[in-house]
Amino acid sequence: MNYTKEYDLIVAGGGPAGIGAALSAARNGIKVLLIERAGFLGGMATNAAVPAFCPYTDGEKVIISGIGLEILNLMKQESYKSPFYDNKEGRLKEYDWVPIDPEILKRVSEQLVIKSGCDILLHTVVTGVTVLNGMIKSVNVHNKGGNLSIHANYFIDCTGDADLVAMSGGEYEYGDELGLVQAGTLCFRIANFDTDRFMEYARENGEDGNLNVAVKKAKENNEFPKDERYVAGIALQADGMAGLNFGHVYHFNPLDGADLTRAEIEARSRLPEFMNFLKKYVPGAEHAVLASSGPMIGLRESRRIKGDYKLTKEDYYNRANFSDTIARYSYPIDIHAATPNHDDYEANREYVTSKYKIGEAYSIPYRALIPVGFSNLLVAGRTISSDRAMMGSVRVMPACFATGEAAGVAAAICSNKTIDFRTISIKELQEKLMKQGAILN
Ligand SMILES: Cc1cc2nc3c(=O)[nH]c(=O)nc-3n(C[C@H](O)[C@H](O)[C@H](O)COP(=O)(O)OP(=O)(O)OC[C@H]3O[C@@H](n4cnc5c(N)ncnc54)[C@H](O)[C@@H]3O)c2cc1C
Repeated sequence: MNYTKEYDLIVAGGGPAGIGAALSAARNGIKVLLIERAGFLGGMATNAAVPAFCPYTDGEKVIISGIGLEILNLMKQESYKSPFYDNKEGRLKEYDWVPIDPEILKRVSEQLVIKSGCDILLHTVVTGVTVLNGMIKSVNVHNKGGNLSIHANYFIDCTGDADLVAMSGGEYEYGDELGLVQAGTLCFRIANFDTDRFMEYARENGEDGNLNVAVKKAKENNEFPKDERYVAGIALQADGMAGLNFGHVYHFNPLDGADLTRAEIEARSRLPEFMNFLKKYVPGAEHAVLASSGPMIGLRESRRIKGDYKLTKEDYYNRANFSDTIARYSYPIDIHAATPNHDDYEANREYVTSKYKIGEAYSIPYRALIPVGFSNLLVAGRTISSDRAMMGSVRVMPACFATGEAAGVAAAICSNKTIDFRTISIKELQEKLMKQGAILN
């Protein structure tokens, strides 16, 4: 690969936001480089084995379309069709809580990105930036080839941690008022799972993805893993295989290498306990084996940028609408507790109490993607400008695809006109987005 090639745009981070950004920018005709530190694309879905996509619908119709839906559909074409989510609550849940097959997702994503003409640089970490008068000039990266600097005219930070913003001296918030972030989870996959037996039990007991019936029984017998209150989710990913979003590691800073190491090791040490619970209380899991855990612990939260507009909890409850809407979404405020003590678990209740009625949604404004103080940098994904409550909703993957896609289109428009991100025509941005499938009203 020619590192000295001139790029219009560099996208840092190849999760849902980065894939959306890189693909939409390249498809709109500009030269794009996507840089990812892992050996594959997908972000938390592949890098942390998060087992399912949150809803793409508002309960009655798809509201996240465009690139996110395209990738979902391509993955589904080749994937196992989970019986678990069909006809639940009388609706065919084709687009909500779709289980992820990480191997298909990795391949489908990279093939689409390559086809768009975008260059991909895997196994490469962005380690620094060169900034001049609020403009990023280049990123410093490190890979097995050593350290190098790559230049572009525009940048999109999709690192999930707002690394580019932080490295550039930009403003951001971190965690709650005590400086704590949501717990992390080492997701894992089990094999030798008797799917038919599990489905029989699920149908008979009205069991759902949180395994409420099994959890209740284990708690009555004092055999539910310590400091855990629920199973965040099980997804049937293949016949005989399930993915678990189960277990929390508390009190660590995901931006601190030593803390992250401790969290990773602590999470892995608890997997036998979780397996014992599953084998004893979940019909179908009696002979299950631990197939794999995520390549890394899943991280729900770190930085949130300070942007031209900050989405707030009030915006969520008001079903806010903006003149510069670039996406709409409806997932509830889902904040996993930062500590195992009971009070913090109150925060989780909002997941239930904040749920919208069918058909309702809020808007995400373009301004929430523009970090204060920069003219050629956008942010997409879980770190867009929001308060912590709102981040509990916009952080999930369908919304990240959508903010990424919008940032990519914005970069293409600005690059073609050599203008900065604030002087874009919102009308043109919205028209282009809708043309490629985004649903904005
Ligand atoms: C345990 C857990 C369970 C979840 N459950 C669900 C769920 O059920 N459904 C759902 O839809 N969402 C779920 N989420 C939320 C969702 O997975 C993430 O919030 C979402 O993936 C964020 O997307 P993103 O593109 O902003 O960042 P990420 O997915 O984190 O992607 C960022 C990418 O950037 C790369 N990167 C980071 N720093 C650098 C750097 N300096 N240089 C180069 N590359 C870099 C990373 O390797 C990564 O691939 C869950 C999250 C966790 C942690």
